[in-house]
Amino acid sequence: MSTAEISGEDFQVRFWGVRGSVAAPGPSTARYGGNTSSIEVRCGARLILLDGGTGMRYLGNRLVAEAPLDADILFTHTHFDHVCGLPFFKPFFQPQNQFRLWAGHLGAGMTMHRVLHELMMAPLFPVPPGVFRAKIAYRDFKAGDALTLASGIAVRTAVLNHPDGATGYRIEFGGKSVCYVTDTEHVPGNLDRNVLALIAGADIVIYDCMYTDEEYAKSFVGWGHSTWQEGVRLCQAAGAKKLVVFHHDPDHDDDRLDAIGREVEAVMPGAVMARDGMVLKF
Ligand SMILES: [Zn+2]
Ligand SMILES: [Zn+2]
Repeated sequence: MSTAEISGEDFQVRFWGVRGSVAAPGPSTARYGGNTSSIEVRCGARLILLDGGTGMRYLGNRLVAEAPLDADILFTHTHFDHVCGLPFFKPFFQPQNQFRLWAGHLGAGMTMHRVLHELMMAPLFPVPPGVFRAKIAYRDFKAGDALTLASGIAVRTAVLNHPDGATGYRIEFGGKSVCYVTDTEHVPGNLDRNVLALIAGADIVIYDCMYTDEEYAKSFVGWGHSTWQEGVRLCQAAGAKKLVVFHHDPDHDDDRLDAIGREVEAVMPGAVMARDGMVLKF
C-alpha cells in the first residue's frame, strides 16, 4: 500500500506489530511477525496510531516521507511492549511534525509526559526525549471519556481489566467502527460489560487473544490477558462483525497460530489472525 492510494473518506487499518509482551523475531514467527503492538489507522486524511511497540519503528520509517505529519497516538497503556518503539520513531525527529499522545490509564501523579521521560532515562536509555524535534503534546484523560480528535471522527474509550490499567478504544468514521481492545483479562463465565458496551455492533474488533482458554486456565490467571475463545464470545454477544485475533503469545510460532486460526474460523467465519503488514479496509 502506498499512501497515494489513500484518498477521500477511506477508512483503513494497517498492522505493524501484532505480538504480545515481547518482540519475537526469527524464522519460526516470520509469517505472522514478531513485532509488538503498533497499528496505523487512516480516517480519510487523518492519521491515528494505536500504541508504540516495536512495529512502530517500521511505521515511522514509512511515514517520514509524508512530513509534515499531524497525528494522534492512542495508547492502551504503557507496559514496555506498547511503548518501546517510541524512541525509534523517526517522525519524532522531524521538526515539521506534530503529535498528540493520548493515555487514559494513568493516575496518581503519573502522566504520559513523565512515562516517556522515564522510558528514555539513564541508565536505561542513552538520550532523553529532548532529542525529538517534532512538536509533541500530551493528552492525559480518564478511561471512559469520549475523545475529540477531529470533526467526523468519534472516539469512545473504556476501562479494561489489566495490571496498572489499560484503555480500550472505539473509533467511528464514515458510519464504520473499529475497536482496539488489548490488553485485558476476562473473568471466565462473566462477559466484561465495559467491553460489550464498547464493541456493540462494531465492524472490526481487535482483541487480546494472547492465550487459548486451556492455556489461560492452566497457567495464566492474573497475567492480564484474554483468549481467542473469549474474543469470539464477546463479539457474538455484542453483535460485532469481525474479530481480529491480536497480541499473539511470543511462544506461539507460525504453525501454532495457523492451527489457532483454523479453530477460530470454524466457530466464527470471517475472523482473521493479525499479522504484520495486514491491511483491513472498510
Ligand atoms: Zn501487551
Ligand atoms: Zn500490558
